[in-house]
Amino acid sequence: MTRRGWLKSAVGLAATSAVRSEPLPAQEPARPKLYIVLWFDTEDYILPQSDDAAKRIAAFLTSQRVRATFKVVGEKGRTLERRGRSDVIGALREHEIGYHSNTHSQHPTVAPGFDDLKRIFGQTPTCYGQPGNSWAPECHGALEKWGVRVYLDEAQHVGLDGKPFWYGGLLNIFNLPDGVKLRPSDDWSNLDKAKADFQEIYSRATSAAPGGLLSLYFHPCEFIHQAFWDAVNFSNGANPAPADWKLPPMVPAEKSEQHFKYLENLVVYMKSFPDAQFVTASEVLKLHPDSAKMRPFTLTDIQEIAPASAGGATFYTGPDYALTAGEILVVLNKFVAGIVRKRSAEAILLDRTVLGPGSAAPELRSPMEFSWSEFERALLDTADQLERTHQVPVAVWFGSTAVPPESYLAAVAQVCTTLISRSEPPAKVTVAPSKLVAAKYVAEDTP
Ligand SMILES: [Zn+2]
Repeated sequence: MTRRGWLKSAVGLAATSAVRSEPLPAQEPARPKLYIVLWFDTEDYILPQSDDAAKRIAAFLTSQRVRATFKVVGEKGRTLERRGRSDVIGALREHEIGYHSNTHSQHPTVAPGFDDLKRIFGQTPTCYGQPGNSWAPECHGALEKWGVRVYLDEAQHVGLDGKPFWYGGLLNIFNLPDGVKLRPSDDWSNLDKAKADFQEIYSRATSAAPGGLLSLYFHPCEFIHQAFWDAVNFSNGANPAPADWKLPPMVPAEKSEQHFKYLENLVVYMKSFPDAQFVTASEVLKLHPDSAKMRPFTLTDIQEIAPASAGGATFYTGPDYALTAGEILVVLNKFVAGIVRKRSAEAILLDRTVLGPGSAAPELRSPMEFSWSEFERALLDTADQLERTHQVPVAVWFGSTAVPPESYLAAVAQVCTTLISRSEPPAKVTVAPSKLVAAKYVAEDTP
């Protein structure tokens, strides 16, 4: 994984009325809320009864006026269409639709399928989550091009203190372990424990601003089967022809009834709390907009941002916006380039997502010193490159010497501070070994 740690915190939950359709009464101060994003990976296109399971869940939630997010696999959508299940499609349509890859466990899994869901459900999928453990930063770039702004899933690849975060141009509702506590145990006997855990999560989230976000997921098929549809067909890289697909074994009817009751009871229970509010993926995006986009950065902002990377490249969280290490690089580089090009009156804006570098950076073993003239040329090259690629360069070149972007960032930050305090550039610039500190938020690759 090469785009390690180019992430930032999602600010903005304090705006608690952002997803309410009606305005808050004027004199009532907004209380911290627990927002609950309830989502269903709707993926089993083999066992026909899983269609009914999805329909039952969707209809129940509609009856409860709870809008959930159904992340549907492209092939599941097409299968519903082929089976003539307009009733299931209609029930799911009452909720928000997300994308859960094209074929999930049958290779190749990811694209296309997005356009099929748009046609079948009459709404553009608002979010994506990977099939199984197939997380990759490249997906974020593709999703952003498709207009998808939310990554909704639960795993450990990348995470920021159990809260939603921005990464790769998307709001990531990812690695929020609270919701996992409310998941059913193997025999679905833990409803009372789940309720107690919810009460604890609710009290914690609503006791102080800005409140919290709970991400809770299920799969419609898990209510009725004994084993996942893909586990019985596609385990360990198996890729049998459709004619050879096996139906997963089902649980007895009374057992699946217990499973549905687990969800239904839990939803009614969560709904009974006055400051708990169900939200869909796109509503979470409204709660956590990326307020750094198109925000003009002032000299005061630059003064605050520049020292943030002194101890190594990491994100910066300001009062009402946040920047990834890559966005800090763009802002500071634009600031210095504006002065060098004598165009410092131009507004410094982030108009595009800045992705992390595409491969591992070169190593810098000891500090190097460059003249201002050498630094200036590297800086203008970097400005052009950022403008063209919208990606942090793998290396910044000083003549024939390559330095890692995090070392370059620390040097640019130092130059900003000097320019602001002395109104002239330094005669020499030291580029020293530095770390991508924010990499600690990304899991190590396993062998
Ligand atoms: Zn899945």
